[in-house]
Amino acid sequence: MTLKDLTATVKTVKGYELKLQTGLFINNEFVTGAKTIDTINPATGDVITSVQAAEKKQIDDAVDAAELAFRNVWSKTSPQDRQKLMLKLADLIDRDAEELSQIETLDNGKGISLSRTVDIPGIAASLRYYAGFADKIHGKTVDIPGTFSYTRHEAIGVCGAIIPWNFPLMMLGWKLGPCLATGNVIVVKTSEMTPLSALKVAALAKEAGFPAGVINIVTGYGPEAGDALARHTKVGKVAFTGSTLTGRTVMKAAAESNLKKVTLELGGKSPNIIFDDADLDKAVKWAHFGIFFNHGQCCCAGSRVYVQEGIYDRFLEKFKKATEETRVGDPTDESTFQGPQISQLQYDRIMGYIESGKDEGAKVYLGGARHGDKGYFIQPTVFTDVTPKMKIVQEEIFGPVVVVSKFKDADEVVELAHDTTYGLAAAVFTENVTRAIDVANRLEAGTVWVNAYNVLNPQVPFGGYRQSGVGRENGEYALDNYVQIKTVRVNLSL
Ligand code: NAD
Repeated sequence: MTLKDLTATVKTVKGYELKLQTGLFINNEFVTGAKTIDTINPATGDVITSVQAAEKKQIDDAVDAAELAFRNVWSKTSPQDRQKLMLKLADLIDRDAEELSQIETLDNGKGISLSRTVDIPGIAASLRYYAGFADKIHGKTVDIPGTFSYTRHEAIGVCGAIIPWNFPLMMLGWKLGPCLATGNVIVVKTSEMTPLSALKVAALAKEAGFPAGVINIVTGYGPEAGDALARHTKVGKVAFTGSTLTGRTVMKAAAESNLKKVTLELGGKSPNIIFDDADLDKAVKWAHFGIFFNHGQCCCAGSRVYVQEGIYDRFLEKFKKATEETRVGDPTDESTFQGPQISQLQYDRIMGYIESGKDEGAKVYLGGARHGDKGYFIQPTVFTDVTPKMKIVQEEIFGPVVVVSKFKDADEVVELAHDTTYGLAAAVFTENVTRAIDVANRLEAGTVWVNAYNVLNPQVPFGGYRQSGVGRENGEYALDNYVQIKTVRVNLSL
């Protein structure tokens, strides 16, 4: 590895030479921060490089740059030009897709096939989808006799985004897309654990021609950089994705400062419900994908599987086979399905949950231990014989751990499904369309899949009921988070 200025060059195990940006991206320049943070390769535990870390001063700099850019340039840029820039950035992401995939896999540990097929196409798709809206933001005229009354959907100005480590680039895309399309500027704080791919996108944003200050991307620790952004009085809106615990802190900081608008995409403990009449093989395939996709580090993971009693034993047998066949290992290997967890801390938390499950009397049906001898790998783990109040049934584990239990009928399973504080997602497997719609409509969850799991698109809104979030991202609905509505009422009578 060589370090020069604010870049680093690293070689991956497969021989790719990656040039990494390590500075804070403020006002179209990479600059130094208050200190540095080591970013770790979770597959080995080795340091990849150090990146600059922002504290309050750098957040102030980024917000000031954004504010100036909004006032002097971006608010005067035509919607068509905003659209062109967003599309250009998406094209550059496509051009450098392989390099971005390699960076994401190195920094996050997700399988290279996942980076290539989900994360990198995901950010490009969000940018393209929302670019289409850039020239379609408009208000309404309102018919009140004796007046000319109309509404304007105006940009807020400087928006903040605080994103997690599990889908670093997809989460970046979910924030950039609606924010830029509606004419706002942005300061993004990436997770301190996965800063590298977003910094590469920052360089691409400059190459695409975004004016200085429109997109600022910084990394730093949550309580320092994240809190400074959430509290900043020049920031009019903050979009947060992360844990419910931190979401509460962000909302409090926003309330205590300037009552900025807040959207929160938080955690989950989502139920995956499989009825007797489901296509069993399909249900097994999706239940496996539902929990083990992205190593269980998915806010909407189907971490509670409820199987109707008539097929419970057959389901378990097939689910066991599918789980045993999960390819766990080197994330740079194309055939790997499950790579390492993100960090030692997450590894310890997940193993702690596994121990708590054992202590509370659940049965480890499969897995339950470390995989390999280096990095943060955990065996895909299946618990059975659980009871509703166990910690492993109630709390988000955010790892490859699933609890499987039995139910009798729809009424019982809907009640079980609602027995947590969350409401992010759910799924129903059945071949009976009436039952599918009935149960889907009764479930208190922001997304309900029928005969599928973990399928997301920029076109459809995503977000949580209950303590899984506030507001919706994706789809046309997300645009509402980034505009303020002004009424103009012209008096036409004497
Ligand atoms: P986290 O809450 O620890 O961190 C998320 C972000 O918040 C990071 O950038 C972190 O630095 C920052 N942060 C931490 N403390 C802060 C503070 N006091 N003020 C401001 N910012 C602060 O979450 P994580 O561990 O990075 O991500 C995992 C969580 O994210 C899980 O709970 C998962 O369910 C959730 N998640 C939700 C969605 C969704 O769309 N609902 C998507 C992905 C992840």
